[in-house]
Amino acid sequence: MGTGGNTRPGSPAGGRFVGLDIGGTGMKGLLCAPDGTIVARDACPTEADLGFQAVMERILRLADSLVSGSEEPVVGIGMALAGNLRSREGVCVFSPNLPGWRNVNVARPILENIGIPFRMGNDANCAALAEHRFGAGRGTVNMLMLTLGTGVGGGIIIDGRLMLGPREGMGEVGHIIVDPVGSECGCGNHGCLEAMCGADGISSAARLVLQSGVASSMLEMADGDILAISPRIVADAAAEGDTAAIGVLTDIGKILGAGITTLCMVLDPDRVVIGGQIAKTGAPLFDPMRRTVAARARMVPFDAANIVPAELGGDAGALGAVALFDDDSMAQLQP
Ligand SMILES: [Zn+2]
Repeated sequence: MGTGGNTRPGSPAGGRFVGLDIGGTGMKGLLCAPDGTIVARDACPTEADLGFQAVMERILRLADSLVSGSEEPVVGIGMALAGNLRSREGVCVFSPNLPGWRNVNVARPILENIGIPFRMGNDANCAALAEHRFGAGRGTVNMLMLTLGTGVGGGIIIDGRLMLGPREGMGEVGHIIVDPVGSECGCGNHGCLEAMCGADGISSAARLVLQSGVASSMLEMADGDILAISPRIVADAAAEGDTAAIGVLTDIGKILGAGITTLCMVLDPDRVVIGGQIAKTGAPLFDPMRRTVAARARMVPFDAANIVPAELGGDAGALGAVALFDDDSMAQLQP
C-alpha cells in the first residue's frame, strides 16, 4: 500500500478512471477521463439485504464491465459510500445503508480481482471533492459543501484538498448545534442542523404549520395524510407559490443560514455549495439562507452570493470517487 502516486487526473499518463457510488438501493459506475468527462456509465440494484459478499460480487461485475469496455487503460478505481471509513486501509467500519458492512475490507476484493489502484471515500466527502474539481466549486481555495437529504452531510476543502481528520470524521456539518434545546437528532444529540434541516426536520416543520390550521396545497399533495408530508411535497408546493410551504422553507433557510454563518467563521470558505434534492427548490430556500448569512456573518463578512447550488446532481458521488485520484493526500491502495 502506498499513498499518492502519479496515476491521477491531469498527469501526463492520462488514461481512464472508474468511479463507483454504492448506495443502499442502487449502485452506479462511471468511466471517466481525468477531467471528469463521463465516457460511459452503468448501474444496477444494490440488493443490500443480501449482505457484503453478494453486494461485493455486484460491485466487481459493475467495475469489470466498465474496465473491460474502456478503449484506454483504466488506471484507477474509486469508490464512494456512506458511512465511517478507514480509507487508508480500505476498510468500511460501518455503513448505515449496507447491512453487514461492519469492519469489512472493501479494497482487497477489488485489488485481487481487478488489479487496478484503488481509493475510497465517504459519499458526502466525495460529492464535495467532485464539486470542487468538476462542478460549482471549481477554482476555489477553501470550499464547504452541505448535502441536504435524509440527513445533512458535508465536506470541507481547504487549500484545494479534501479534509478527513485522523478518524476521518471531519465535515460532519449536519451535527453542529444550531439550537441548544432543539429537537433530538438521529445522532443522539439535540438541536443539530440535521435534526432541523434534514428530511425529518423539514417534514415535521411542515406538519406543525398544517396542524395550526393554515390553508395549504401540501395536504392535498399528500392525499390528505399529514404523515405523508415530505420535503419533496414542501418543495413542489413552494414552487407553485403555496404560502405555507414557502414559510416552511423560509424558516429552514434561516436555520441553514445560521449554521453556514458558524461554519464560515471557522473555515473562511470562498464558496459554499448546497446539494441534495431540496436545494433544487432555489429561491424559496436560498433567499432566506443568503439573507441570514449576509446579516449575521459580521466578524469576517462573507458574500452571500457565494452560496450556490451544486451542479453535478446524482453523479457527484461517483465523480468524487474519480476525483479522489486528483488529491495527493488521499490514500491509494495498490494491487
Ligand atoms: Zn446530530
